[in-house]
Amino acid sequence: MQGIMQDWQLTTNKILEHAKRINPTREIITRRVGGEIVRTSYSQLHDLSKQVSGALIEGGIGLGDRVATLGWNSARHMAAWYGTMGIGAVLHTINPRLHPDQIAWIANHAEDKVLILDTTFLPIIEAVKDKFETIKTYVIFADADNMPENSLGAIAFDDWVAGKSLNASWGDFPEETACGLCYTSGTTGNPKGVLYSHRSNVLHTMITMSKDAMGMGANDVVLPVVPMFHANAWGLAFGCPATGANMVMPGAQMDGASIYELLDTEKVTITAAVPTVWLGLLTYLRENDLKLPHLNKVLIGGSAIPDAILRAFETEYEVDVIHAWGMTETSPLGTLGSLPPHLMDADIDTRMTQKLKQGRPPFGVELKIVDDENNDLAWDGETSGRLVVRGPAIAAGYFKGDGGNVLDENGFFDTGDVANMDEFGTMQITDRAKDVIKSGGEWISSIDIENIAVGHPKVANAAAIGIYHPKWDERPLLIIQAAPGEEPSKEELLAQLEGKIAKWWTPDDVAFIDEIPLGATGKINKLKLREIFKDYKLPTA
Ligand code: AMP
Repeated sequence: MQGIMQDWQLTTNKILEHAKRINPTREIITRRVGGEIVRTSYSQLHDLSKQVSGALIEGGIGLGDRVATLGWNSARHMAAWYGTMGIGAVLHTINPRLHPDQIAWIANHAEDKVLILDTTFLPIIEAVKDKFETIKTYVIFADADNMPENSLGAIAFDDWVAGKSLNASWGDFPEETACGLCYTSGTTGNPKGVLYSHRSNVLHTMITMSKDAMGMGANDVVLPVVPMFHANAWGLAFGCPATGANMVMPGAQMDGASIYELLDTEKVTITAAVPTVWLGLLTYLRENDLKLPHLNKVLIGGSAIPDAILRAFETEYEVDVIHAWGMTETSPLGTLGSLPPHLMDADIDTRMTQKLKQGRPPFGVELKIVDDENNDLAWDGETSGRLVVRGPAIAAGYFKGDGGNVLDENGFFDTGDVANMDEFGTMQITDRAKDVIKSGGEWISSIDIENIAVGHPKVANAAAIGIYHPKWDERPLLIIQAAPGEEPSKEELLAQLEGKIAKWWTPDDVAFIDEIPLGATGKINKLKLREIFKDYKLPTA
């Protein structure tokens, strides 16, 4: 027997329609690239998004077409987002911190037809524009007066949408329709596309709004420093309009002074970013003897949170820290570190030890730890195993089938993280099985660095591993086994990488080793290397 309830399709346009109807005057406050502050109500955002839909339809864009953005967090970016998703086209957020060649590769792989970008990124795109195979239309997030000279034949966003009707029809498709596309470099090989559906995004939104997750409401003012190109700004680009919370968009300025100014003037109650951002803010607060009277909650994730940041927020500034773990593939929230009931009254050290762990999964995320034969391991807070995850907002594969089947026989996705779980479901990451380096919340491909380094005639073998760094969490160390009779210098090895990788991927140091350890299959044994170099101190640390 079936239930007799309505079939209300979970499509993301309903989020903005709800915002316009229920919280029309709540706002998105944007610091634009030029520095000026602009306020856009949810009612205005809705209409602007409809105009984006109109412009896209006029340009021949429809169901399933990919529209890319290369943009900072802003109201215009939100309009591009909802205007694209509303008509069933797919909003592809591109990470501007990638090497320009990689951006071109991703745009071609995604077969993007439109690219909407901030002026900041114009030089990157102009440099590789001849490599784009499918982009027909370039739009710049600007008005005519602030439109930069460009060789793309781009149109100003405000002109692109001007005069478009508000009649574009939204949500005329099933909830399983693709909605957003976000490539991740947190896997081996080429970046892979995670293809969110409307249903997965709406369900993830509901998960994020719950009290032990982000728990925002219509009275909150939320500052997502985490970019929209990082897995939907951790869901905030949906959760804020869904609840009616104000959004404060920092644009390109994420230094301590700029973030503090927004926290203070807009009376921000909830904010979210990777640990590196908070180091900048805390330094600025201390240097200027400032407090955070309005801020209730800071979400910190993307990398493990250092003890010093946690304690500073909690004890010096009385801000509740919510440590979060997740992945692009998990939409992204997987666990959150709200204190469980049995520890609410525990002493400060017990509470801080708990908060340094990655947290507990909200309803809608199923976690397990398993051994190499996929047997479940005990939740005793000590036994470590591969962390696998299942749920309605977890990837079932990658775009175009890249990477093959990623689910086990029970439908669990292997995160590549190694963790333990305690009896109350608190997850703690203890290691990483995947061969990548995460610096300041962004991935660095060790394999790309190694492939270029071994191309040097004086090198027999090369490996790149992440070494602890107090500011960036990890920075790459290049480890070299010289070719017989050769003694390559650090400088010539780094010169070999120059121009072929993004500048910030450049290893902080080069170490030499007689023989790089190999595993049974001839692959570099990274676990062994990490063990050998576990006490290595980078000159930059
Ligand atoms: P991304 O897809 O770029 O969001 O990266 C996801 C990966 O970042 C995870 O699989 C972890 O390896 C790492 N990560 C994310 N959050 C945390 C955290 N709170 N602590 C430790 N590692 C994290």
